Amino acid sequence: MEFDFDLFVIGGGSGGVRAARVAAGETGARVGLAEESRLGGTCVIRGCVPKKLMVFASEYAKGMHEAADYGWEVKIRGFDWPRFRKRLEAELDRLEGVYNGLLENAGVRVFARRAMVADAHSVRLADGKTFTAKHILIATGGRPALPEIGNAGLGITSNEVFHLDELPRRLLIVGGGYIACEMACIFNGLGSKVTQFYRGAQILRGFDDEARGHIAEHMERHGIDIHLGTTVLGMDRAGGAGGLLHKPAGGIEVRSSTGDTFTFDQVLFATGRIPNTAGLGLEAAGVELGRRGEVVVDEYSQTAVPSIYAIGDVTDRVQLTPVAIREGMAFVETVFRGNPTPVDHELIPSAVFTQPEYGSVGLTEDEAAAREPVEIYCTTFRPMHKAFIGREDRVLMKLVVSKATRRVLGVHIVADHAGEMIQLAGVAVKMGATKEDFDRTVAVHPTMSEELVTLKSPVRTL
Ligand code: FAD
Repeated sequence: MEFDFDLFVIGGGSGGVRAARVAAGETGARVGLAEESRLGGTCVIRGCVPKKLMVFASEYAKGMHEAADYGWEVKIRGFDWPRFRKRLEAELDRLEGVYNGLLENAGVRVFARRAMVADAHSVRLADGKTFTAKHILIATGGRPALPEIGNAGLGITSNEVFHLDELPRRLLIVGGGYIACEMACIFNGLGSKVTQFYRGAQILRGFDDEARGHIAEHMERHGIDIHLGTTVLGMDRAGGAGGLLHKPAGGIEVRSSTGDTFTFDQVLFATGRIPNTAGLGLEAAGVELGRRGEVVVDEYSQTAVPSIYAIGDVTDRVQLTPVAIREGMAFVETVFRGNPTPVDHELIPSAVFTQPEYGSVGLTEDEAAAREPVEIYCTTFRPMHKAFIGREDRVLMKLVVSKATRRVLGVHIVADHAGEMIQLAGVAVKMGATKEDFDRTVAVHPTMSEELVTLKSPVRTL
């Protein structure tokens, strides 16, 4: 049978764009791609990129105060959100154009439409057009989930947070994951009064406990009001005064599980993300979905229907851009180059762009100790950059080491630029470096990361 396309990709985000571009540009496949919103997807339009730019913007406040203490004459007049937002939107437009150009140059036919799977070899667009394809790739990502509470719609999610008209004066962030914590630090830096509710006992569940405590303590010291063991029971429009920073208006009244009532100008829910599979026609086509609606795939990203594959957040494996990209590359290698390539999901380094940043790779202390006897090497110290001006901010560096093999099983760094550091530590850990390999590496002085190669004795063995 002659198909309209060799590959039809649904979703033009990190994974879909990469797979489409490489399949068309490097293997000569005839590729179609449908995107219902904006090319670039979550990462470029409403995730990593705008977030990181907001992190940069928000860090200047602290930086300017520090500059003053270093001797600079500094006058801080406040943050001009509309000016920043205009520049941010222009940058996202530029990046969207870059993605469009990449696809065009590779010869991918792009449809600015929602698409769904009609059967194992055909895709139907929202305008009713149907195309056949030898292979279909589902790369539809995920979306923020709103909690099931009264009037949750009064709040916003990370989809809207980059487009606010004004900076909220009083902001509630609900959630304790990395997006919630990053947003708390961003808005705190930009000048909002930030309160954070999290139902669990400590923020950043799933990460190393010591690092979590360290970050929470710093966030609180820098003015974020963290309420643990706390959820939102309900919300209403507040009648009284208050309102946005530049435009007084009624705020949002929030009833908490601790029996208190608060008023905020904005409530941001960062309470998890769900895979985008609703209405995609997947189950009818025979594709298996998991409990959370995720597409169930094997190690080659193939679904229960042999011609349909899925990559990225929609598969709910590891929700990170570089992982979606790798899955897209591995898919092309497997299907279009005849070289079956599974994606290696082990030892993925990652960063949380809180302030201070957290970079980690490998096992947490508890995970490692549950598997085998380990030694923990850990230090916290005031870095010279901060100690010089009397700041209390401390860096945390930690190595989790196997007693038996001496391999470094986990590295955890809480420090400015920890994301940059962990990328390199990740190479060593991926190569199977031992504690002794770290020890015989000469320190770079004076740096923060030199502590990683000068940790003498374990602080505990487990
Ligand atoms: P997406 O990028 O979500 O792309 C899916 C695309 O499919 C979207 O453009 C969507 O519009 C489109 N689509 C959906 N359904 C259809 C349909 N039926 N028809 C047509 N098109 C459709 N990751 C990191 O690695 N580092 C970070 O710092 C980071 N920060 C983040 C911050 C935030 C606030 C968020 C929300 C996410 C962040 N992520 C980060 C995660 C990262 O953005 C995702 O892991 C990544 O974008 C997943 O790529 P994807 O291709 O699977 O899906």
